[in-house]
Amino acid sequence: MTQPTDRPGIDHLTSDMLDQLYAECDAAQGDRDGWRERALGYRLATERVRALHSRWEYDANSCSVCVDCYGSPLPYPCATVAALDQHGQTPA
Ligand SMILES: [Zn+2]
Repeated sequence: MTQPTDRPGIDHLTSDMLDQLYAECDAAQGDRDGWRERALGYRLATERVRALHSRWEYDANSCSVCVDCYGSPLPYPCATVAALDQHGQTPA
């Protein structure tokens, strides 16, 4: 069942109304593309951070970059990887 609206019917659309509608659609698509591009950038950044904080090649139980104040490697997963995991940034 269709609800009555204040919208003009298809037979009552003017060229100006269509121009405005297309302009709004183009703007919405631009916004969507911008959000998509930013989301991809954030995902790639988290992947780079995760790759940096990988398992150390000499001890798979340690982070490859995180060390304590004595220079000893910290256990893997380190706090950075745990934070990524906590926010659902698991690897794709
Ligand atoms: Zn780390």
